[in-house]
Amino acid sequence: MSNNYKMETKCIQSGWEPKQGEPRVVPIYQSTTFKYDTSEQMGRLFDLEDSGYFYTRLQNPTNDVVANKICDLEGGVAAMLTSSGQAANFYAIMNICEAGDHVVCASALYGGTYNLYAHTIKKMGVDATFVDPDASEEEISNAFRENTKALFGETISNPALVVLDLEKFAKVAHEHGVPFIVDNTFATPINCRPFEWGADIVTHSTTKYMDGHATSVGGCIVDSGNFDWGAYGDKFSCLTKPDETYHGIVYTEKFGKDAYITKATAQLMRDLGSIQSPQNAFLLNLGLETLHLRVPRHCENAKKVAEFLQNHKKVSWVNYPDLKDDKYYTLAQKYLPNGSCGVLTFGIIGGRDASVTLMDNFKLAAIVTHVADSRTSVLHPASHTHRQMNEKELLEAGVQPDLIRFSVGVENVDDIIDDLAQALELV
Ligand SMILES: *Cc1c(COP(=O)(O)O)cnc(C)c1O
Repeated sequence: MSNNYKMETKCIQSGWEPKQGEPRVVPIYQSTTFKYDTSEQMGRLFDLEDSGYFYTRLQNPTNDVVANKICDLEGGVAAMLTSSGQAANFYAIMNICEAGDHVVCASALYGGTYNLYAHTIKKMGVDATFVDPDASEEEISNAFRENTKALFGETISNPALVVLDLEKFAKVAHEHGVPFIVDNTFATPINCRPFEWGADIVTHSTTKYMDGHATSVGGCIVDSGNFDWGAYGDKFSCLTKPDETYHGIVYTEKFGKDAYITKATAQLMRDLGSIQSPQNAFLLNLGLETLHLRVPRHCENAKKVAEFLQNHKKVSWVNYPDLKDDKYYTLAQKYLPNGSCGVLTFGIIGGRDASVTLMDNFKLAAIVTHVADSRTSVLHPASHTHRQMNEKELLEAGVQPDLIRFSVGVENVDDIIDDLAQALELV
């Protein structure tokens, strides 16, 4: 696809360019497997000598079309879909880490990602150190060790709504010779393209705005192609030294800028699975076609809702990066000049118990374990997504115990505000 097209055009057109007589819309290749004429041809695929499809656990044409669209939107060189955002963040790290390694992460993270890095990868021998996203370069730097392989953060953290200083994090990562991996789920490439600020790898929970309609769980990993693995060959020997499971091929030599994604596909997908189903990829693609229309409306609605809450006497605080007095307003203006996201958080007078009562009073906003849906939804992280955390962990993740996460949909904003008004009235 022409790189000169604007984002709106890419949302619609990228990824699928049918030839004469082919379907206008990407078909769902609902097939586990693909046929070859000779045994030799099939064998070459298993040696990574030829590229081609052979088994949907590794690759599927529908998935690749959609991954390529997201790749184009982010301005990357290669991308892959995963079965979930969790799988994307797991693979993004484990593609370059093994037992004995270490990663540094901004502490304001999605609850699932926090668990994944604080507990699950630890059991696999990979340690994580969490740093305050507002820490100085020196403080972030001090968290690095000899065996550190990556720095990780979220563009806009879920649910703390911390806007990450991407340039600061990229600089520290690169000073230590490791890639900076950014989960760009909340911003989406419509509002921020982290590669433009020095990120090397971007991940997504496509379950959120990209799908946008709460139909399909999915994830994506995009590589900028900018990180020079070869320059730190000993540290990233998994990419720069022979892979015995493929007759000793060296990913960086054979695949150049595609090395990272090829390895993740050829090794991790082969051995661990977690592919997105082609049916889900098809639905995700429909979502992507309107991403550029929905995201600005989410932001416009969220700003009006945030202003309404800010002026309400029963509301004790509101976090939304586009509010002028928000702690992250300046960073949001820099990295997200067209708007941040449709999610905001607030607390009400009466604290945790009042928050729970308020939630039960909503008529339009639905209590669901979800955000970034076209329908307005609401959640109390301390009781739901983050309930496994103790108070200290909650505060480190930027989640106050009374915090209500309100995901503003694309309904008429007056109806959303009316719902909030009547629910607050009853508290
Ligand atoms: C939801 C979410 C995830 C996890 O994605 P799933 O698709 O639910 O597995 C990861 N990161 C962020 C920022 C999220 O919002």
